[in-house]
Amino acid sequence: MSLPPVTSLPLLRRIVIAGGGTAGWMSAAALSTLLPPGYEIHLVESEEIGTIGVGEATIPNIKNFNAALGLDENDFIRATQASFKMGIEFVNWGRLGERYIHGFGSFGQDFGSVGFHHQWLRLRREGLASALDDYSINTSAPRQAKFMRARPEMAGSPLADIAYAYQFDAGLYAAYLRRHAEQRGARRSEGRIVEVLRAAEDGRIRALRLDSGEQIEGDFFLDCTGMRALLMGQTLGVGLEDWSHWLPCDRAWAVPCESAGPLLPMTRATAHSAGWQWRIPLQHRTGNGHVFASRFMDEGEARDLLMRHLDGKPLAEARSIRFQPGRRHQAWHQNCLAVGLSGGFLEPLESTSIHLIQTALARLMSFFPHGGLDAADIAEYNRQTQFEYERIRDFIILHYKATARDDSPFWNHCRQMAVPETLQRKIDLFCSNGRIVREADELFAELSWLQVMNGQGLQPRGYHPLAEQTPKAEAVDLLAHIRQVIARCVQVMPTQAAYLAEHCQAL
Ligand code: FAD
Repeated sequence: MSLPPVTSLPLLRRIVIAGGGTAGWMSAAALSTLLPPGYEIHLVESEEIGTIGVGEATIPNIKNFNAALGLDENDFIRATQASFKMGIEFVNWGRLGERYIHGFGSFGQDFGSVGFHHQWLRLRREGLASALDDYSINTSAPRQAKFMRARPEMAGSPLADIAYAYQFDAGLYAAYLRRHAEQRGARRSEGRIVEVLRAAEDGRIRALRLDSGEQIEGDFFLDCTGMRALLMGQTLGVGLEDWSHWLPCDRAWAVPCESAGPLLPMTRATAHSAGWQWRIPLQHRTGNGHVFASRFMDEGEARDLLMRHLDGKPLAEARSIRFQPGRRHQAWHQNCLAVGLSGGFLEPLESTSIHLIQTALARLMSFFPHGGLDAADIAEYNRQTQFEYERIRDFIILHYKATARDDSPFWNHCRQMAVPETLQRKIDLFCSNGRIVREADELFAELSWLQVMNGQGLQPRGYHPLAEQTPKAEAVDLLAHIRQVIARCVQVMPTQAAYLAEHCQAL
């Protein structure tokens, strides 16, 4: 994230952030670190209203965000009770009783001019290759609770190629970022925003009025008020594009419980009969929740199901959360930017919401309005945001659509529903010749699509013909070799708990 030098005093100098959840404090921390002197950053939050209190699993790009702030990784891990995350395990998605991991890392190696996966597809159909999970360290290590950071000096070994993200306590992360932002001059006001004041001449937001009577004036506003979308939705009237016809889940129960069993470096998503349950192991507790479709299951049943599937004693009452999947029509409108849940909601199946906060901020840096608002910049910002949201949406829908489950009305609905054309094209391409095409800079790369499409039971009819350039016996040997090397590497890896204790002075 870099910003062109400011040559004169910025026109939009006073930046007001409404809301102090993960989005608000990530924004304050990023802006107070990255903007040159001359800007004022003022955040308003209400302890009485509180935050959504979930959002604990991330994807690897979060490391770039923390690095841009200059955070020390071990310090961050201790402060937020974080654990490492190498991927997500999906249980009961394709069929009851099946499981696969969507890992963050690479697979095997390329064979000549075709990717590893075509060679694997070729051998797999003849029963000459084992499960895909065996060919990546990121999908082999987590089930054994093994973790270590990559050792770049071991180039050529899978141990040099371990990818990870974090699972952390969202409240502790916000508090950590708050300290960071306040040390860099960000101001904070406590109180409920009771009125959003707009300029008579052009309707732009000019100030927030708090219940104390305090009025906070600003030139540019970040709406981080969560699903309330107090500025962007309620005040400026920018609506949500509804995606509930593709993503029927609209509620969740969330509850933390005591840790149990080995500390797994992965999130688990277990499908139930009308939704799915997350399990996010942190150092000090495990986060759990049941995301479900209220059209197919009532609240009480959904809550009971969650409580029955906890693997430790609950540490609080279960909380109910309602949401609507969709995207705000414009993320940036006039002098207001929606960051976080105010900008849209996609269920946390692939842990993408915190990432969307991060990219909103990176994009803001790219299009920063230091010379005043510019219609072309705003349009481009919104176009990029729309593309990003829609492609992540497609990837999440894939988990519901690509299933053989027919054991409940929910799964029958999902299996039979029409999906966006952009997703259908990806499914068709994969099912014909195993091709996966990543367009522009969409978030999920080929290997992510491969793992989920394969894990959910999609079977390509063919594979890339160039895979046959490698003699079959040679390919079989190579795949067996990759599998053995990975298994040996996993054997020498420490458990995550041992690694945290030794390298992060945590636990
Ligand atoms: P909030 O946390 O709701 O914060 C809103 C802020 O605005 C609060 O400080 C509140 O006090 C303030 N506010 C609101 N109204 C007013 C007012 N009138 N006056 C003053 N202040 C006000 N994301 C992931 O990346 N990974 C996950 O694993 C994940 N799991 C999730 C599970 C569920 C069930 C849900 C619903 C979401 C999940 N998310 C996840 C999303 C993640 O929780 C959010 O992206 C993240 O917490 C950011 O939320 P926020 O800051 O936008 O909103």
